[in-house]
Amino acid sequence: MRKFIRYEHQGKRSWGLLEEEWVIPLHGNPLYEVREAGGDKVKLANVRFMAPCEPSKVVAVGLNYMDHAQETGHPIPQEPLLFMKPSTSVIGPGEPIRLTPASQRVDYEAELAVVIGKRAYCVAEEEALDYVWGYTCLNDVTARDLQAKDGQWTRSKSFDTFCPLGPWIVEGLDPSELSLEGWLNGELRQRSNTRNLIFPVPRLISFISHIMTLLPGDVIATGTPSGIGPLEKGDRFQVRIEGIGVLENPVI
Ligand code: MG
Repeated sequence: MRKFIRYEHQGKRSWGLLEEEWVIPLHGNPLYEVREAGGDKVKLANVRFMAPCEPSKVVAVGLNYMDHAQETGHPIPQEPLLFMKPSTSVIGPGEPIRLTPASQRVDYEAELAVVIGKRAYCVAEEEALDYVWGYTCLNDVTARDLQAKDGQWTRSKSFDTFCPLGPWIVEGLDPSELSLEGWLNGELRQRSNTRNLIFPVPRLISFISHIMTLLPGDVIATGTPSGIGPLEKGDRFQVRIEGIGVLENPVI
């Protein structure tokens, strides 16, 4: 399974393929051009990671794990409950999540992210996975107090840095049974499996693509399990997903 990263090395930003401790540079943007690698490889330790894609939009799903819906006191949705996060909220691995004075309670939410590989409009559930480029980890950072106060979710989900994404995109994973964990300062806080998604990945792609066209590089945040909690200055939060890896970000 290929792993795609986006990185900066000696002032230059590129995409690359990950091969153990090395990055093989890719020519151009792998979304629109042939995804062939070549050229001088770079040591992984010497690159700065960036978010592995640049979504035109992040479409997120609320209350998509039964146990999380219960912990928030909300009823189980009858169809996917959607909201959006702006592209400007996306940051890469290791970049800091910035708390905001506008909120007294900013939470982490560990989630599986689906990265779209080709334009998807009115896609049938049976064909939905053909439109996926790959999968990565996402932290749907949320100003919980503002979410309650506003009565809708735009402000609470949209602050700059509230969408850590990465560390890389893994092709060819089966998204139906992946263990997913959230770790706060080295302590396990969230643990579930994508088999517990109320609406699984093919259903989400089909449902969303009947509302809006999904473009290459767009991201679907599939929802978080129970165990959400607040982030404080100095914390480090990790999203860990089986078959993908670890996304870690500090909080400032
Ligand atoms: Mg969420």
